[in-house]
Amino acid sequence: MNEFVYADYNASAPLCRAAAAAAEHAMEAVGNPSSVHRYGRSSRRLIEDARHSVARSVGAAPGDVVFTSGATEANAIALHAENFGSVLASAIEHDSVLAARPNMTLVPVDEGGVIRLDALESALAEAEAPVLLSLMLANNETGVVQPVGAAAELAHAAGALVHCDAVQAAGRVPFGMASLGVDYLSLSAHKIGGLSGVGALVTAPGVPVRPLVQGGGQERRRRGGTENVAGIASFGAAAETLAASLSDQDRQRRLRDGFETRILETVSEAVVFGAKAERLANTSCLAMPGVKSELQVMSFDLAGVALSAGAACSSGKIAVSPVLTAMGVPPELAECAVRVSIGSGTTEGEVERLIEVWTDIFRRQRRRAA
Ligand code: PMP
Repeated sequence: MNEFVYADYNASAPLCRAAAAAAEHAMEAVGNPSSVHRYGRSSRRLIEDARHSVARSVGAAPGDVVFTSGATEANAIALHAENFGSVLASAIEHDSVLAARPNMTLVPVDEGGVIRLDALESALAEAEAPVLLSLMLANNETGVVQPVGAAAELAHAAGALVHCDAVQAAGRVPFGMASLGVDYLSLSAHKIGGLSGVGALVTAPGVPVRPLVQGGGQERRRRGGTENVAGIASFGAAAETLAASLSDQDRQRRLRDGFETRILETVSEAVVFGAKAERLANTSCLAMPGVKSELQVMSFDLAGVALSAGAACSSGKIAVSPVLTAMGVPPELAECAVRVSIGSGTTEGEVERLIEVWTDIFRRQRRRAA
């Protein structure tokens, strides 16, 4: 058993061996991929190989993959792809979607954390054309999977375009551009074992894309700037591991379910969020009643366990999760939630340690409060 337990895969997965090797190899390449000489051409080849791998992993054409600095940028490009009259998004989207445009219409979710398709239908009926719907495939905090295919059908019937932030779903649930039926899809390398600082916007053929960053004409004029060759090479290598990652999900589900069952048996007041909905196998968002998230995160860290409060991406600051709030969770419970997210490196021994530390923190705080 490792001394430390890393249970924060949804924030960033450890770099996988293939991605590290690809990045190292690419770092030795000299040329600017836009240069026509042999050095440039060999850097270009690394990028195009990675483009094929990323495209194949989601059933897209390589020419429809735009490499970016991450999913934050990919989301921003999608949300500005056209002069949309209305942008609709679920109330539980990642900050990078919610902050990309002012005055979005937020579509509510139900208690299970799933978008309400009836509310989506009404919002689509009132929206001003051209319309974009942005709906994530799996939520980063709860792991709840959204009915993107059904939502995309409703949106398309109303003449809207559809963007899907699939960052947390990659390698965890099987999907492709065609099965989802979306026009834009965002991916991030560091969530699947590649380097951070690289991602992609994948498009359906022929949909509009307006560059946010202009300049050298890279990425077929859809994203200017010399490409991050090593990062992109690591992304391509990581994309090749997604099938293996999918085949590990049953194991991760057993570990996660075992964790939740043991916690709920030991502490009946504990609450698991989104448990009744379809969820990613690796994610558990749960409240330890009476113990604030920040205190939990620090106590887990002191005990050698790395995990996050719901809002892990918000530069280290912990606020009550808007995702849990949107699900109708009362603030006094939402402020006691943390997210456990495991991955391919997680062992049974580590899950035992997680359970031990969780119950230990709970008991200590209870004694202190008594
Ligand atoms: N969308 C979701 C659902 C995420 O979890 C994250 C990362 N926290 C992002 C977008 C942003 O990705 P990146 O770090 O590549 O900008």
